[in-house]
Amino acid sequence: MTDKQGPQFRKMAIIGIGLIGSSIARAARQRGLVAEITCSARTQDTRRTALELGVVDEAFEHSIDAVKDADLVVFCTPVGTYGTIAEEIAPALKKGALVTDVGSVKQMVVEAIEPHIPDGVDFVAGHPISGTEKSGPAAGFAELFDNRWWIVTPSKKSTEVAVQKLTAFCEGLGSSVEKMEPPHHDLVLAITSHIPHLVAYNIVGTADDLEEVTQSEVIKYSAGGFRDFTRLAASDPTMWRDVFLHNKEAVLEMLARFSEDLTALQRAIRWGDGDALFQMFSRTRAIRRQIIDAGQETPEANFGRSASSDD
Ligand code: NAP
Repeated sequence: MTDKQGPQFRKMAIIGIGLIGSSIARAARQRGLVAEITCSARTQDTRRTALELGVVDEAFEHSIDAVKDADLVVFCTPVGTYGTIAEEIAPALKKGALVTDVGSVKQMVVEAIEPHIPDGVDFVAGHPISGTEKSGPAAGFAELFDNRWWIVTPSKKSTEVAVQKLTAFCEGLGSSVEKMEPPHHDLVLAITSHIPHLVAYNIVGTADDLEEVTQSEVIKYSAGGFRDFTRLAASDPTMWRDVFLHNKEAVLEMLARFSEDLTALQRAIRWGDGDALFQMFSRTRAIRRQIIDAGQETPEANFGRSASSDD
């Protein structure tokens, strides 16, 4: 939808106005997708910042106040909060409203929200595959979703019309939309996002624990590769704690595969099997080339980015 056609939704309520919530608010307002934006946030500081930045018209402490009369409700808090919030807002949801979310896991989100959705209200879960390691409303920006994927995972309460409405909204924010079953989403994201973050948290933690190599040496020589892991390892601890607690099965399955492959590499190093190492490293180099060719990365030094990244 464009400005000329009028806004797609009259009133949008963002529950949790952090990096993702404020980026949706900025992009939706800038592109004329909504006429009015309310939000809820638990701290007064966050509510004040969101109002001062002008990303929302009204900010409430309680989500039930923010969703009143809203035509679109977007959950943007850590996924562990979704069930409680869904139960709280359910009585205030307007007939005909569309409820969605941006959570990084999907099966658990459907299970947490869908049972609370009243008749006459639509629910379609979603996940923008874009983000940065920063948090809070000041970290958001309108271009965050440009040329990125937004995965929507329809479930029992999702009508075809609601899926189309959400698709149009995400496209309006700049993304391309792909539909997936919630469990499949969780498997795909386990390997493309969750395990990479776990590896990063682990390697940075290991370096921090080392006694033979000093912390100042780790920092001084970080350009050797370590610093690229530190960007992922700087991601929000609450958000990532919730991701691992709520995508347990898929993460453990992918972690088992990862460990087997790591053991194979360990064996190749131990036995001096240079051919095995060379073959593996050539295969992985080709994957990066494919990602660049698909427009999901730039070939520039420092990944072509100074501050932002993909989730
Ligand atoms: P964020 O910047 O930390 O913002 C989180 C928001 O949720 C803040 O408004 C915070 O309020 C509120 N909040 C936190 N804990 C809460 C609680 N227990 N009860 C009520 N509100 C609470 O986080 P974000 O990066 O935008 O992530 C939000 C969601 O987006 C998560 O579900 C995550 O899985 C998903 N996601 C993130 C990324 C990414 O790269 N960051 C990418 C795609 C999807 P206060 O500030 O007042 O505490």
